[in-house]
Amino acid sequence: QSEKATNFIRNIVIDDLNSGKHESIVTRFPPEPNGYLHIGHAKSICLNFGLAGEFKGRCHLRFDDTNPAKEEVEYEESIRESVHWLGFEWGEHMYYASDYFEKLYGYAVRLIEMGKAYVDDLPPEQIRAMRGTLTEPGQESPSRNRPVAESLDLFRRMRDGEFADGSLVLRAKIDMASPNLNLRDPVIYRIKKVEHHRTGATWCIYPMYDYAHCLSDSIEGITHSICTLEFEDHRPLYDWVLDVLAVPCHPQQIEFARLNLSYTVMSKRKLLELVQEKLVDGWDDPRMPTLVGLKRRGYTPESIRNFCETIGVGKSDSIIDMSILEEAVREDLNRRAPRAMAVLRPLKLVIDGYPDGQTEEFDAANHPNDPSLGTRKVPFSNTVYIERDDFMEVPTKGFFRLAPGAEVRLRYAYIVKCESFVKNEAGEVVEVHCSYDPGSRGGNAPDGRKIKGTIHWVSAEHAESAEVRLYDRLFVNPNPGGKNEADYRSALNPKSVEILSDCKLEPSLAKASLESRFQFERLGYFCLDSKNSAPGAPVFNRTATLRDSWTE
Ligand code: ATP
Ligand code: MG
Ligand code: MG
Repeated sequence: QSEKATNFIRNIVIDDLNSGKHESIVTRFPPEPNGYLHIGHAKSICLNFGLAGEFKGRCHLRFDDTNPAKEEVEYEESIRESVHWLGFEWGEHMYYASDYFEKLYGYAVRLIEMGKAYVDDLPPEQIRAMRGTLTEPGQESPSRNRPVAESLDLFRRMRDGEFADGSLVLRAKIDMASPNLNLRDPVIYRIKKVEHHRTGATWCIYPMYDYAHCLSDSIEGITHSICTLEFEDHRPLYDWVLDVLAVPCHPQQIEFARLNLSYTVMSKRKLLELVQEKLVDGWDDPRMPTLVGLKRRGYTPESIRNFCETIGVGKSDSIIDMSILEEAVREDLNRRAPRAMAVLRPLKLVIDGYPDGQTEEFDAANHPNDPSLGTRKVPFSNTVYIERDDFMEVPTKGFFRLAPGAEVRLRYAYIVKCESFVKNEAGEVVEVHCSYDPGSRGGNAPDGRKIKGTIHWVSAEHAESAEVRLYDRLFVNPNPGGKNEADYRSALNPKSVEILSDCKLEPSLAKASLESRFQFERLGYFCLDSKNSAPGAPVFNRTATLRDSWTE
């Protein structure tokens, strides 16, 4: 992390600091509180908070709460928690666009006075129809030449609640023939008799995004207003509002390519539908690309920050492969997650000859390369569970695990040899009987003979039972929201979760705290579910497999 990768926005910041254009920088992350944050937002958070942190500036967390109909307090709280969880601080002050409603109103009055805005009484459909197209200029509204005094009066009465929703709007007076449609007299205020979750019934007119955003940035003294590429065409309007009002602070809007990720969807509408239609188990379902979902899945904030650093910041839209995100969490957890043994699909293995009722303990390192993580005791007895697929009645070529007559090493314990097995009526192997080599304690044969296979196990008498949820990607199609996908719902992965209810864990895992993460040896990375675990009834979520199983 010492050598920080640069990007074009970081270079602009460096230039502005070197040239003295700014003494310090102020960025902002401006979510609309109408949904939960997702991995795409993380890219913007890491960029904005990251620059502020690196260059000792500030980054404001601002709620862009100008659209009361879709916003909720629940969303606001989760946004705050997620930004915190990702590892960023914004100081004690919270910023809200709604705090500027009075100022924004004042600026609008000034625009009208300057002849730069007018109240229009055309119905919204007609305004849209008269806007023209890329090849055809728009038509001017008859209201365009309404006297200033009349617009001022109407605008005040709009505020006072005299008119119905949609009957009047305030429009900026720019250029109906502009090649940029955003400049064809955009609507900047509309009537909406809806209570706002912060301002209550104080307002019944609300500013539009393009008008409110640039002024909010300016009011807060933002130096670099970083947004996604779709706003490139809005930049002339951003600049127009600030120029015409001649505000003292004119932030620079800079656009970057949003994050798109394969095998998932990130539109808030679709995420909301997944939740509402119960296609997932809430916003924090471990398959969701939301930050609360990734957290529950076992992702670390570091892995997400590293991921954002890896993908970089550029100007061209692309789709990042999900495996890059998965690799980021693997890499981080490989480094930090303690190891443990768990058997997901148990098969009983009886060691005949090991005294019944006798137990002993083995010392196991919690991490193969990090001694600071310590060791733990793993108890052993004559009956252990192994994975069903670590035994084959008729071994295939290259199968070095347990089979009739074959020897295998039980991790940390002894070398055992399969002597017989028991089947049930259905013909399934339900019990394997082994002899063991008492001289092989710790795993090495006394005579130096080579044992190729090592398998994990859990002592039956000491095992903790658990439910384990094997999560996989939510969609089978790499681009479920893409153009040739009629409905993203049909691209849902029918096997995105497999629930195993009879798993056996080594007893040290009984002490695991909620959300703690482990590598279950040979199986992958898992974390203790914070929502559905109960004392004595743990639920573990698979964060990632040990290796990428999608691109192999
Ligand atoms: P909506 O679905 O309402 O369009 P949005 O994606 O614009 O939502 P906001 O809450 O307005 O969501 O986003 C807050 C900030 O996060 C914005 O500055 C936006 O540019 C950024 N952002 C949102 N999605 C992504 C993404 N996929 N990649 C990078 N930045 C994003
Ligand atoms: Mg938005
Ligand atoms: Mg969007």
